Amino acid sequence: MSSSDPDMVTLALSKGRILEDTLPVLAAAGIEPEVDPGKSRKLVFETNKPGLRLLVIRASDVPTFVAYGAADVGVAGKDVLIEHGGADLYEPLDLGIATCRLMTAGLPGAMDAAQHRPLRVATKYVETTRAHFARIGRQVEIIKLYGSMELAPLVGLADVIVDLVDTGNTLRANGLEPFEVLEDISARLVVNKAAQKMKHAAISELVELFDRGAAGQVA
Ligand code: AMP
Repeated sequence: MSSSDPDMVTLALSKGRILEDTLPVLAAAGIEPEVDPGKSRKLVFETNKPGLRLLVIRASDVPTFVAYGAADVGVAGKDVLIEHGGADLYEPLDLGIATCRLMTAGLPGAMDAAQHRPLRVATKYVETTRAHFARIGRQVEIIKLYGSMELAPLVGLADVIVDLVDTGNTLRANGLEPFEVLEDISARLVVNKAAQKMKHAAISELVELFDRGAAGQVA
């Protein structure tokens, strides 16, 4: 399934930090939204490119919209794609933007604290965290949170967290230390598999524009 109008390509963008980094790439590719999505409450935006519209949605929903064909193409963080599974999407391009690391972190010594019970880990990346600790053979109890993971070790909710770390300022401001890198993260272009066939020319052109926009090659 893909969004039904064969002449319309729908591109889903992740709200927040990824959107801030994506808009300059779009601009470099010559694609301008009708209004600044960072400053509007609209959810659907027409662009200066006929037949291309944008959706601006929660980052963790982008793979779902693209997998079901509600959007043909999406920009999503690798963190979100790993957690989603990603097998039902093509991932043609690493945009090299919104880079950070998915890490374990906690109060100093926290990884050694729980020797005779499962380590308590707070995260929104439940599947990725489960797979990581299974790989290293460590028993964990995972506590699902939707935000402010850094708070969990401070109030005794968890021993450690698994979260995105960029500058490390948020960890430092809360007296936490980064421990181990699970994944290097960046934003990727993803494509609905049916749309890739049905709208091949339009999507190939968009991937090419993104490729050149990400490299800063388009004026
Ligand atoms: P920092 O203080 O620069 O290490 O950033 C950490 C905070 O920003 C954490 O709350 C992260 O969840 C969030 N964050 C960092 N990088 C990204 C990113 N690329 N995409 C979304 N959120 C991020």
